[in-house]
Amino acid sequence: MRKVPFVTLEKVQEISAQIPTPYHIYDEAGIRQRARELKAAFAWNPGFKEYFAVKATPNPYILKVLHEEGCGCDCASYAELLLAEAAGVTGHDVMFSSNVTPEQDMRKAYDMGAYINLDDVTHVDFLEKVAGIPESVCCRYNPGGSFSLGNTIMDMPRDAKYGMTEDQMAGAFLALSKKGVKHFGIHAFLASNTVSNEYYPELAARLFRLAVRLKNATGVHISFINLSGGVGVDYRPEQPCNNIAVIGEGVRRQYENILVPEGMGDIAIFTELGRFMLAPFGHLISKVLHHKHIYKEYVGLDACAANLMRPAMYGAYHHITVLGKEDALLDHVYDVTGGLCENNDKFAIDRSLPAMDIGDYVCIHDTGAHGFSMGYNYNGKLRSAEVLLHPDGTFTKIRRAETPADYFATFDETPFKFGV
Ligand SMILES: *Cc1c(COP(=O)(O)O)cnc(C)c1O
Repeated sequence: MRKVPFVTLEKVQEISAQIPTPYHIYDEAGIRQRARELKAAFAWNPGFKEYFAVKATPNPYILKVLHEEGCGCDCASYAELLLAEAAGVTGHDVMFSSNVTPEQDMRKAYDMGAYINLDDVTHVDFLEKVAGIPESVCCRYNPGGSFSLGNTIMDMPRDAKYGMTEDQMAGAFLALSKKGVKHFGIHAFLASNTVSNEYYPELAARLFRLAVRLKNATGVHISFINLSGGVGVDYRPEQPCNNIAVIGEGVRRQYENILVPEGMGDIAIFTELGRFMLAPFGHLISKVLHHKHIYKEYVGLDACAANLMRPAMYGAYHHITVLGKEDALLDHVYDVTGGLCENNDKFAIDRSLPAMDIGDYVCIHDTGAHGFSMGYNYNGKLRSAEVLLHPDGTFTKIRRAETPADYFATFDETPFKFGV
């Protein structure tokens, strides 16, 4: 499908007059619509709830928009818990899915009344020692082996550091039950960025059968099953895209087939989607700074991999639209680069694009999740601003850009003075 930016050149010119490029911009209308489509797809399950994966887009304005649409927060660290709290999301609206958990993080999650998702059987005693034992606890499952959809191997759970074996799950449930836990959850994340309507139903079927076995083995009450993240997006225009209504219906069928006959039809379904909720509703907006012709044709932007790491880190594809040239012929081939002293700092390699001029505004698509959040400060590059575009066309700066003073702030206990 053709990728169309949610902003026009005129809108970007208006915003850039106040907020210099580069910046990440998010589409509030799109985010709300996506949250509503997800909710509708799982409306058959009365307890359904999405816990947005905070790591994908850690901004309290975004968390607040999602919370208004009925979503909670999935947090993995102390700072992410503080973010959720600042956005007014606490109690059972928070899922704490961490691994290698520090004491402080566990205590904070407990104090906030969050659902705590234990990554390991040894965390049963750890939780009791550092915080306490809540009424409801979730345990993360790792089935080992490989995870396939049809003939395609999607991922290798046996090589993943997360979760517990089935025997450990049963042991953890019994130990927690003895300590007073009344309600149990099951969680697993087996494949990332799946572009297939089959992933969630297949994962659900596995977890539902596991839930039946664990209930029979331990006698505990399982109250929710957390399908976590992994529903992906079509980064490439020619890729198929997920249909959340079909996915929700696929999960419902497994629920009816596996859980309902066992008298387990009261189980709530939870999700922890990050990418699917936000990726398409973010753009990285940048400006062409330089042209360069050596053995290849280069276009240099004012953004770099420090603003969007995915292409450098995974060779990930991000579609690029030159604003105002949406209908121009794609008759030039460029490498589109940032300015890091790293040759993998390329947003696109050998990409067919319209003729680009210095000063052109460039929209890099699908940066709403795992975009800004993976940013870093290599080469002294500063983190960009974030902007929220409202449904009425107005916008809010939801995070200012870093300044050199921010970059040097952690030298405040040293005698050095920076000319900022
Ligand atoms: C990263 C993560 C998610 C979100 O993953 P997406 O691919 O963005 O949907 C959900 N749950 C856990 C535990 C995660 O680590």
